Amino acid sequence: MAAQLQILGCSGGIGGDLRTTSLLLDDDILIDAGTGVCDLSLDAMTKIDFVFLTHSHLDHILSLPLLLDSVGAKRCKPVHVYGLPATIATLKKHIFNGEIWPDFSVIPSAEKPFMTMSTLKTGDVVCLGNRSIRALPALHTVDGVGYAISSNGSTIAFSGDSGPCQDFWDEVQKIDKLKHLLIETSFTDNDEFLADLSQHYCPVSLANSMKPVSPSTQIWISHLKPGQGEQIMAELNHLDRIGRVEPRALVAGQILSF
Ligand SMILES: [Zn+2]
Ligand SMILES: [Zn+2]
Repeated sequence: MAAQLQILGCSGGIGGDLRTTSLLLDDDILIDAGTGVCDLSLDAMTKIDFVFLTHSHLDHILSLPLLLDSVGAKRCKPVHVYGLPATIATLKKHIFNGEIWPDFSVIPSAEKPFMTMSTLKTGDVVCLGNRSIRALPALHTVDGVGYAISSNGSTIAFSGDSGPCQDFWDEVQKIDKLKHLLIETSFTDNDEFLADLSQHYCPVSLANSMKPVSPSTQIWISHLKPGQGEQIMAELNHLDRIGRVEPRALVAGQILSF
């Protein structure tokens, strides 16, 4: 059966029906835990066994503490969280510290906690059933990764939050049967300075950094700044280096099969 990636949230902010980054792979693996997770039913949340974080920024982790609190007692095993060493350390220090939120890695007991955590590094591959998840390079203001998610020989690549990162594009170019490429573009070209400062893409920096991908790869744009999505997409569509397949804006509610 084809794997499915459900877009729970992919916006650079909130407001109305906008939700921040959270992607549900089949029904048991979450890639980032932004505000989109809050739309899931309690039953759907309870099925999540693994969470892969791209980085520690709030818009990508915000639902995780509440998710664990809501489903922990209903589950018979811990939710397992993967992230870079810096991401895991930041969560332990600033979120699950007993002050902002309980430390669910030792609650209700150290032997049977609601959450366990593992570190990974760029290039690591985690295989879960017929799915494999590989950490891709990213460049952001904190340590970050993207992910390549593969199933049955077909792959979706996701940039996470990143500014121009040649290592990411080198890895993406090596992927055989890349069906979907999800790449962030947070700012308009008017805000190129801000994009550079915060290590995000704007259309011109994406065009300058991006390497060609197969024309059969659909390119999706995520992390659009609220209220600026139309302008960012218009600027992207004026750039001819993006590739032969016109990039489209990713929206919450979409399901990508691969
Ligand atoms: Zn970020
Ligand atoms: Zn973000």
